[in-house]
Amino acid sequence: MKCPRTGVDLKPVNIGGITVDISEKCGGVFFDHDEIEKFDQKTKIRGGLLVQHLKQFTPPSLDLNKHINCPKCSGVVMDRSFYSSKNKIEVDKCPSCAGIWFDFGELEKLRNLIPVSAGSYKTGQQFEERLLNSPAYQEYKTALDDNADDTARREKADQLHLFLFNCIY
Ligand SMILES: [Zn+2]
Repeated sequence: MKCPRTGVDLKPVNIGGITVDISEKCGGVFFDHDEIEKFDQKTKIRGGLLVQHLKQFTPPSLDLNKHINCPKCSGVVMDRSFYSSKNKIEVDKCPSCAGIWFDFGELEKLRNLIPVSAGSYKTGQQFEERLLNSPAYQEYKTALDDNADDTARREKADQLHLFLFNCIY
């Protein structure tokens, strides 16, 4: 699948047993119709990890009002509409496969909109902080930041994906 904003190949990333497709060019992410439910609330650890991971891919300047084609369904234009009537953040939805595209930063905004109970939020947040502050994660982050060579950077990124996956399962 190609990134609907930039045309690069989307990269499948396995986070806690669920594979989503991300754009390393613009920090966007495509979810199949039922996958987003595992990522949308702040208590859902997968979402926190994905938000942190996507942050490193700063987008080029993009016209977000431009309608995009579904990366999965050839020739189908996605609808730009609110995520839900309660959660009024605009995302791109496919009328054919019900997949959703989030541009850079939109997943984080959505997660900030959906209310969660204080207790469950705290538990999820503590877990996420522990994980993101762990020496192993920091090591991968440093390697990603320091290494300007693209191939090596890609290998490190792959290791990071694997690391995130192993932390959850
Ligand atoms: Zn589609």
